Amino acid sequence: MNVDLHCHSSVSDGTLAPQTVARRAADHGVDVWALTDHDEISGQAAAHEAANSLGLTYVGGVEISVTWAHETVHILGLHIDYRNQVLHEGLVQTRRCRTDRARAIGRELETVGIKGGFEGALALAGNPDMIARPHFARYIVEQGVCQSVPEVFTRYLARDKPGYVPMRWAHLGDAIGWIRAAGGVAVVAHPARYKFTELEHDAFFDEFRALGGGGIEVVCSSHTAQEIVRYSETARKFGLKGSRGSDFHSPEESNAELGRLPPLPDAVTPVWSDWF
Ligand code: AMP
Ligand code: MN
Ligand code: MN
Ligand code: MN
Repeated sequence: MNVDLHCHSSVSDGTLAPQTVARRAADHGVDVWALTDHDEISGQAAAHEAANSLGLTYVGGVEISVTWAHETVHILGLHIDYRNQVLHEGLVQTRRCRTDRARAIGRELETVGIKGGFEGALALAGNPDMIARPHFARYIVEQGVCQSVPEVFTRYLARDKPGYVPMRWAHLGDAIGWIRAAGGVAVVAHPARYKFTELEHDAFFDEFRALGGGGIEVVCSSHTAQEIVRYSETARKFGLKGSRGSDFHSPEESNAELGRLPPLPDAVTPVWSDWF
C-alpha cells in the first residue's frame, strides 16, 4: 500500500490546485492520500471529493506552524475532521499574522534592492491569507534575481538572511489540542530539519508526547537512509507511530514526488494502523 500523508496545493504554498494534486497522486500510484496545506483547511473538501472520484482513500490533513523554544516546528494533523470548528478557529488565528509579516519581508527585500516583493508574492499566492515565503521566492526567480527557489532561500529568505522576518507561530500545546479536538493525530513533520541538540531533541519529544502528540514522520523526501533509522529510534523511544510523506509542493521545484518514497520500516507502527 502506497501511503503519502504530506503534500501541498495552491491553497497554501504549492502550485497545483487540490484536484490536480489528487490526480497526480493517483497517477503516481498513491493508494492512501492526505493533502496537508500549511495552516489552512479550505482545500480539504475539494481534495476529498477528487480522491473519492479517483478511487484514493482520503485522509483529512493540515500542517500547522508552531514555535517551540527558538525553532519553527511543523506539526501535521492527520485523520482530522476538517469541518471541526475548534481547528478552524485555531488556524484562523495562526494565519492572522502572515500578511503583516509578508509586508515586512517586502520592506526588508527593498533594502537589498528587490522591489515590489509584497505585491509580487501576493499575486502568486492562490490564497491571499496564506502568503508564504515560497511565493516571495517564486517572484524573485521571475524577476531574474536568482535561478531557483532554493537559491532565493539561501540568499534572502532563510534565517539570518536579509529578507528573513522572525515569527511567533502557534504554541505546541494549542496546535496539538486543535488537532485532537478535530479527532486527528498530531505528527511531527520532517524531524531532521530542526536544529536541535541531543538534549533539545529529547526535551521536545518528551513535551510533544506529554501534550498528546502521537506520531513522527519517519519517512519523508528530505530524509537520508540514516535519518530514517534515527527517527525510527525516536518513534520507539517516545512511543510514537510513524508516518510517511513526500512534502510535494510543485512539479518544478524539488525532487519530492508524490508516493515516491522508501517504505516505513517494519519496526515502526504506522500512524494509519488504526484507521482502516
Ligand atoms: P513560511 O511558512 O512562510 O515560513 O514558509 C515555509 C515554507 O518555505 C516551507 O513549508 C517550505 O515549503 C519552504 N522552504 C523553507 N525552507 C526552504 C528552503 N531552504 N528551500 C526551499 N523551500 C524552503
Ligand atoms: Mn511549504
Ligand atoms: Mn513543513
Ligand atoms: Mn509540508
